[in-house]
Amino acid sequence: MGMANFHVDAAGKKRVTLIPGDGIGPEVTSATRRILDAAGAPIAWEVYEAGASVFKRGLMTGVPEETIGSLRSTRVALKGPLETPIGFGEKSANVTLRKLFETYGNLRPIRELPGVNTPFSGRGIDLVVVRENVEDLYAGIEHQQTIGVAQCLKLMSRKGCEKIVRLAFEVALAEGRRSVTCATKANIMKLTEGLMKRTFEEVAKEYPQIEARTILIDACAHQLVRTPEAFEVIVTSNMNGDIISDLTSGLVGGLGFAPGANIGAEVAIFEAVHGSAPTIAGKDLANPSAVVLSAVMMLRHLDEPGLALRVENALLATLEQGVLTADVAAPGASVGTQQFADAVISRFGQAPTRFAAREQRARRAPVAVHDPIAPAERSTVGADVFIESARSPAELGPELERLVEGSPLRLKMISNRGTVVYPDNGALTDCVDHHRCRFKLRDLTGDLTTAQLLDLLARVGSAFRFMHVETLQNFSGVRAYTLAQGEDDAPLR
Ligand code: NAP
Repeated sequence: MGMANFHVDAAGKKRVTLIPGDGIGPEVTSATRRILDAAGAPIAWEVYEAGASVFKRGLMTGVPEETIGSLRSTRVALKGPLETPIGFGEKSANVTLRKLFETYGNLRPIRELPGVNTPFSGRGIDLVVVRENVEDLYAGIEHQQTIGVAQCLKLMSRKGCEKIVRLAFEVALAEGRRSVTCATKANIMKLTEGLMKRTFEEVAKEYPQIEARTILIDACAHQLVRTPEAFEVIVTSNMNGDIISDLTSGLVGGLGFAPGANIGAEVAIFEAVHGSAPTIAGKDLANPSAVVLSAVMMLRHLDEPGLALRVENALLATLEQGVLTADVAAPGASVGTQQFADAVISRFGQAPTRFAAREQRARRAPVAVHDPIAPAERSTVGADVFIESARSPAELGPELERLVEGSPLRLKMISNRGTVVYPDNGALTDCVDHHRCRFKLRDLTGDLTTAQLLDLLARVGSAFRFMHVETLQNFSGVRAYTLAQGEDDAPLR
């Protein structure tokens, strides 16, 4: 099953790039490799480096060319966690790998496990978080605006939303799930998170056999703790998904049991949700289950469903029989990482008595098919210019009005971190030195030209330092920007 995208070598083995990673990574990936090899998985491992050691060699990306080359050729990786050591490099090596190979979807299934007791045991929790993996705030487009104010751009695309939403529905179909829940913050971020919600509602119509639900991400967090068994598939944006999937792993015994798959059209990278857990690294204490379960997902992707089941059942039988690592065992009753792997290996052919592995069918690879419809008419009605100033809004307003006197633009308002502070409306805003100055064309039927924009910047720039400019657009008469908190909506033409 899977979106068959792997390569077989001359000896008939399926090639997999193995990245041991940092901290507990080498321990948990070697335990997993031993289990897969003992199960008879026809895998040719190609071991390559990424992470802390690479950063420390001076490579800014943390991912060497040969690792990228291997993955480009094998198209499948099993990966341990990677660290970005403080003072080395800028970008996380993980994010680099995900973005380089456009692994746009991150599947993070969790399920109540036999033998792992939690406050939720007996509720039958069984869900998968489908996290968008390359867009949103984690694109990491950040700019320091002033000494005291920083900005991160939240970019979301129609195409990106559609791909992740389709992946979620395809996962639901392949796994026989009945519902998909789209969790967003669309009430606050109407244009970005709202795009995800609207895309979901549109695509859902193509999957009438699956119940489509929407929920706000905060309510989702609450519901996940109250009634987690009510969720089957949760699709969400990058940061929401990052947070909510750590939460869901906590529902079934913790990060030691939460597997993941980074899915792209060409490449798939399998890795646990957890990081390098430096405090327990090198002590044979880590729980390898999350990586083993990630490898089970990988075996399905490599079209080895029988082997996947064999490994999954042996792991679950091991847990059910009370063989547990220190993260979940009673004090003094734990086994080490490698001993746990041996326990799994000794149970091939066994299956848990109280748990049946989920049946899965092949999953179709989603492609975005809806091109956004270009607006019939498009106009620029003004611009937001973000300036640095420690002066009060009551001083800034008249000064900016004076600067644009005689120009086609007027000052509509000034906001401070999104709240209108000029004209004064009584808000008790504790201003910082970063002001958004919204200028609009006096002529409501006009379309701001580049020359007019440059003239505006020259006028504002003659008295203030500006660092960020956004044009204000209307798409077919519909406002394509949001109002500030407290701003009135001047009627559009
Ligand atoms: P973490 O490594 O996931 O560890 C948090 C805690 O969870 C650990 O201290 C440990 O708890 C427990 N834990 C995690 N995995 C475990 C396992 N397999 N077995 C037993 N216990 C486990 O999160 P972090 O401390 O925030 O991050 C550490 C580093 O990992 C950072 O450099 C981060 O950037 C990186 N990271 C990488 C990835 C990735 O490569 N995909 C993901 C997340 C984080 P106790 O302390 O209670 O034992």
